[in-house]
Amino acid sequence: MDQAAPRGTRDILPPESGIWQQLEERFDDICQRYGYGEIRLPSFEHTEVFARGVGDSSDIVRKEMYTFDDRAGRSLTLRPEGTAGVARAFVQHGLSSEAYPVKLYYRMNLFRYEAVQKGRQREFNQFGAECFGSADPAVDAEVIGLVDRFLAELGLTAVRLELNSIGCPDCRSNYHETLRDWLRPRIASFCPDCQQRFEMNPLRILDCKVPEDQARLHDAPLLFDGLDPDCRAHFERVTELLDAQGIRYQINPRIVRGLDYYSRTVFEFISENVGTQGTICGGGRYDGLVAALGGGEVPGCGFAMGVERLLMELEAQSCLPSLPARSRLYLASLDRAAQTAAAGLADRLRQEGITTCSDLVGRSLRAQMKYAARSGFSHVIVLGSDELASGSGRLRRLSDGAEEEVRLDADAIRSRLDPRTAD
Ligand SMILES: [Zn+2]
Ligand SMILES: [Zn+2]
Repeated sequence: MDQAAPRGTRDILPPESGIWQQLEERFDDICQRYGYGEIRLPSFEHTEVFARGVGDSSDIVRKEMYTFDDRAGRSLTLRPEGTAGVARAFVQHGLSSEAYPVKLYYRMNLFRYEAVQKGRQREFNQFGAECFGSADPAVDAEVIGLVDRFLAELGLTAVRLELNSIGCPDCRSNYHETLRDWLRPRIASFCPDCQQRFEMNPLRILDCKVPEDQARLHDAPLLFDGLDPDCRAHFERVTELLDAQGIRYQINPRIVRGLDYYSRTVFEFISENVGTQGTICGGGRYDGLVAALGGGEVPGCGFAMGVERLLMELEAQSCLPSLPARSRLYLASLDRAAQTAAAGLADRLRQEGITTCSDLVGRSLRAQMKYAARSGFSHVIVLGSDELASGSGRLRRLSDGAEEEVRLDADAIRSRLDPRTAD
């Protein structure tokens, strides 16, 4: 049996999992401060949800999905992104009858069959949020504001916000023609993927990751320059609201995002840190998505950020969330009676919120002390017949060996172990 996890997946063990917990708590917290409630979704959906909700012409649907038939012959797909599933749930549960806007956030694992590289895995995690029910540019600005605030609270500084509008379907069909006319005499020199995209959705060509193609696109016409008056006004209002919140941005007419359902506002938060440059978070407005999944005309706007990518960035910019320092007490025991007493005392201490462990292996005192030192305990009390008879013992701080006499009761011990200071 191959004991390695499948390629592109990984295990997260302590203490790294503690950093994940910190990050998750902070994300929950900021979303709740903006009035979002958490949605939890199944890990797979009917394939159609993504074919319709992400778009048949996207790379995700064409090349990257884990799709399989279940035993009853239904085509199912492990979710490759979050938004389509959230919109599917929105329709299924009739949330369009709730007071607007409906604000939902998520933390989820996702699956894409992609080339594995640093920061890109086949099972990966995203944090995201979706706001349904309002076409007002105030939503776009608040969604962007949430991400901006979250990254600032984490301490990331070398990050810039890039903003664009890809217009409404009318703007885009006008632009398709303009772009197609421009590409027609040039398309033969583009990569094979782009030649397919030329037929299916020429807008996708702007997203091509082949550097030579990006260079060829240098003087292609821009959708941004041909926005109709409504889409132009929407974009200007978004920038006005961002200005009012003091959020800095750069307009980048080349951002299109990889998914078909976006409309008008699209944005990316991009690392400026040398060595980890790249997109940390992307999002935008998707006014046609709910309708594409069989719901009504319900506008929406949201974002998603890759958690692995974010952690890489936090590490590179030296702001990984630190684990709160907590006391961890080990109750060593000299004999069977002391082991029994230690189990009871540990139970009472845990009820007081103190991390407490006692011997579960039946080891010698020496071996127990070695274990306590290696396993990150901050304090030890040794229990033997003397301690049980007197009802008190010596609380030893492992960092410097300092000892003090303490009564063997949960209150007395807790008062000596300030959970804020482990040493
Ligand atoms: Zn438009
Ligand atoms: Zn290409």
